[in-house]
Amino acid sequence: MPPVYDRRLLEVLQRIDNASRDAARPVPRLLAVSKRHSATAVADLALAWAGSGLLLPVSLGENYVQEAVAKRAELNGHDGLPDQEWHLIGHLQANKAREAATAFDWVQTVDRARLVDALARHRPAGGQPLNVLLQVNVDAEAGKHGCAPEAIPALAEAVSGKPTLRLRGLMAIPTPHEEIERRRPAFAQLHRLFTDLQARYPGVDTLSMGMSDDLEVAIAEGATMVRVGTALFGART
Ligand SMILES: *Cc1c(COP(=O)(O)O)cnc(C)c1O
Repeated sequence: MPPVYDRRLLEVLQRIDNASRDAARPVPRLLAVSKRHSATAVADLALAWAGSGLLLPVSLGENYVQEAVAKRAELNGHDGLPDQEWHLIGHLQANKAREAATAFDWVQTVDRARLVDALARHRPAGGQPLNVLLQVNVDAEAGKHGCAPEAIPALAEAVSGKPTLRLRGLMAIPTPHEEIERRRPAFAQLHRLFTDLQARYPGVDTLSMGMSDDLEVAIAEGATMVRVGTALFGART
């Protein structure tokens, strides 16, 4: 296993630990964002993860259904890999909902009622429900995916009424202001929306926010899951 993955993973875990301690917050879960990195890179990271003392399964985030399906198939050919949990973190088109409903363990980008219905219909009954996060367009950026904060209650109600789905919380990609500190208010607002949702749905436990360059601020504001690509895998080509 290339030591580079051991070193990068250790660095990221150190940052997460430091940020949690500084802010007196629980340590969030790590999601390794593997988009545009090869199955070989993912296999190396998975082995580093298994050796790091982190809880299994290895959590992986992908932006495209097709890319994730192909990568999963390739990883199935690797011997001795730890179990993985796959999260869709990219925008989901309605015509891909059928495939996404079986290819992933989590869909973090549910932002409209049509998607709730399609995912619920195509997730096989009798197995594990599909874990769902509602994606919120927290700073109301025009043309950006995610629902308005006001739309959360109705969408949450729709998800919670589907036996094949399990409502777990919220996800967002706030405006990436150059100055990291300027990202803090959006994270804080997301945390307020998250605690409101939690008060109504006790099963809600996940606030997915923060990436390679701003995970400290996200953790300080209450992230329970950070999504890290570049700091783990290096720059995307
Ligand atoms: C690419 C991506 C990430 C990871 O970003 P890095 O800056 O590489 O850590 C996290 N979340 C989403 C939704 C992404 O598309």
